[in-house]
Amino acid sequence: MTAMRPRPTVEFTGSGPGDGGGMSGSGPVGFDLDMTLINSRPAILASFAEVARETGTSIDPDAVDRRLGVKLEDELAFWFPPERVAAAAEIYRRHYLRLAEPMTTVLPGAHEALAAVRAAGQRAVIITAKHLMSAGPSLRAAGLVPDELFTLAHGPEKAAVLRRLKAVAYVGDTPPDMAAAVQAGARAVGVTTGSFTGEELAGAGADVVLDSLASFPAWYRSA
Ligand SMILES: [Mg+2]
Repeated sequence: MTAMRPRPTVEFTGSGPGDGGGMSGSGPVGFDLDMTLINSRPAILASFAEVARETGTSIDPDAVDRRLGVKLEDELAFWFPPERVAAAAEIYRRHYLRLAEPMTTVLPGAHEALAAVRAAGQRAVIITAKHLMSAGPSLRAAGLVPDELFTLAHGPEKAAVLRRLKAVAYVGDTPPDMAAAVQAGARAVGVTTGSFTGEELAGAGADVVLDSLASFPAWYRSA
């Protein structure tokens, strides 16, 4: 079984530990990537700076920062007319591929969070808006290997993946992440390691808000 697949192919059947109670025995857990498992902010902002430089377009890094987590094309649409978005995305990815490995770091507790899910006999799945091409170097830089990887999914698309996987929880740093979990009937776990506050995450439906994934294993085991 390969670690990184762009599309789902397995339905986990398990051997039925039959623990009967608690979330940890009952299904996979989904994780967002950017600013949940990894600090990709420096590489993202540096890549946008290169796009601005190469195209002579003014791009406000604070505005980009406030929306971190949306699809690249959706962010670029704030700065470029529709017919120029694809070319800008190409420039961005060229720089991101170069910058992701040296500039990406793993966030506190990320390895432990994935390990906690696996220790319960469940799959730790990453569902991200990132392109597969950009997710690869980011994961390598962070030393993270998901049981399955779903790319180019944002908002309601994340909900669709979560529902298909019968995920019991989705962990993310943005209000749309929380909304996706709610929509999929999964527990919405917010982390404030991204651009959003606990209040904003709670307002979007977070069941629980953690300062970082360092608190995840204890929460997961008790949930
Ligand atoms: Mg994120």
